[in-house]
Amino acid sequence: MLNFSVGPVQSSAGVRAIGAEQVPYFRTPEFSKVMLENEAMMKELAGAPEGSRAVFLTGSGTASMEAAVMNCFTPSDRVLVVNGGSFGERFAQICAIHGIPHTEIRLPFGKALKEEHLAPYEEAGYTGFLVNVDETSSGVLYDLDLIGAFCKRNGIFLICDCISSFLTDPFCMKENGAAVMITGSQKALACPPGISVLVLAPEAVARIEETEVKSLYFDLKSALKNMDRGQTPFTPAVGILLQIHERLTEIMEHGGAEAEIARCARLSAYFRERIGAFPFTLISEAPTNAVTTLGTGDISASGIFRILKDVYGIWVCPNGGELAEKVFRVGHLGDLNEEDYDTLLAALADLQKRGLL
Ligand SMILES: *Cc1c(COP(=O)(O)O)cnc(C)c1O
Repeated sequence: MLNFSVGPVQSSAGVRAIGAEQVPYFRTPEFSKVMLENEAMMKELAGAPEGSRAVFLTGSGTASMEAAVMNCFTPSDRVLVVNGGSFGERFAQICAIHGIPHTEIRLPFGKALKEEHLAPYEEAGYTGFLVNVDETSSGVLYDLDLIGAFCKRNGIFLICDCISSFLTDPFCMKENGAAVMITGSQKALACPPGISVLVLAPEAVARIEETEVKSLYFDLKSALKNMDRGQTPFTPAVGILLQIHERLTEIMEHGGAEAEIARCARLSAYFRERIGAFPFTLISEAPTNAVTTLGTGDISASGIFRILKDVYGIWVCPNGGELAEKVFRVGHLGDLNEEDYDTLLAALADLQKRGLL
């Protein structure tokens, strides 16, 4: 199997070896040490300001998106949501469910966020901002310098869903003024799905402490309190947390966030230089390094996905809903190299030769 999806993605040999072991009991000093090291490495890789904290929720990325909204916003907030695809839509849905007043900044699929989209909301009483830094459905990377400066001038609390862009594109909580950074285990962390992470700047920790949350599992006060000693309130996905420790250690040893981002940039450039030979269009106006989004015109995108999977053992990433026949994506996350892209390109060339493209 060769997997170019955007999650779960291919894991390193070290991470896979841990997956083959027995899962240990976790209320121990040994596991606490692993968790505190996970917290320290996550904070460093996210460029978190002094006094930040990290919590690890057992649940997919969406669990942390919902926890962030529930713990940081109340019905007296007014929140802007960038909605340029299915993950922006999800933040709007979460706000609606939790009664958080919100306004959607709707962008056409594949389009970048520009100054003119934010201009109507200057000094307009907004208190919160939600953005999927890479809108993974379209592969658009939003301009965080623009968003960070807007939030700073307007005193707005910024929550960044970096679930697919963490470690693929430059990001620094300190520089971008993000109060919360969210990621998940199955994207660039290249571990099995099941854990999501929130890195919380001091202003986010303060909000969590003062917000009343009507939930047992998603109240981050207890997660923070337990994390003081490297523990979680409930049984976490212990095995995945050990795999995350291995993966974070590997990243630190290979040059940290900068080196990992450079590797993703190199792979995405390698693929994009060569995909021009095929009858696809590049959809994203501001492409992330995490994924390349391809329009297929009259060719069935779901057909390409199915044939690559069933005939060649290669997994690309289909799109859902009304784009299922028009768009597919090729990821640059996880344990992949140039040769893997050569294999994919050769399979596409073969499809072309057989008249299927
Ligand atoms: C993958 C992803 C999510 C979370 O999806 P889950 O299936 O809940 O892990 C959220 N936001 C973005 C931008 C993503 O890429």
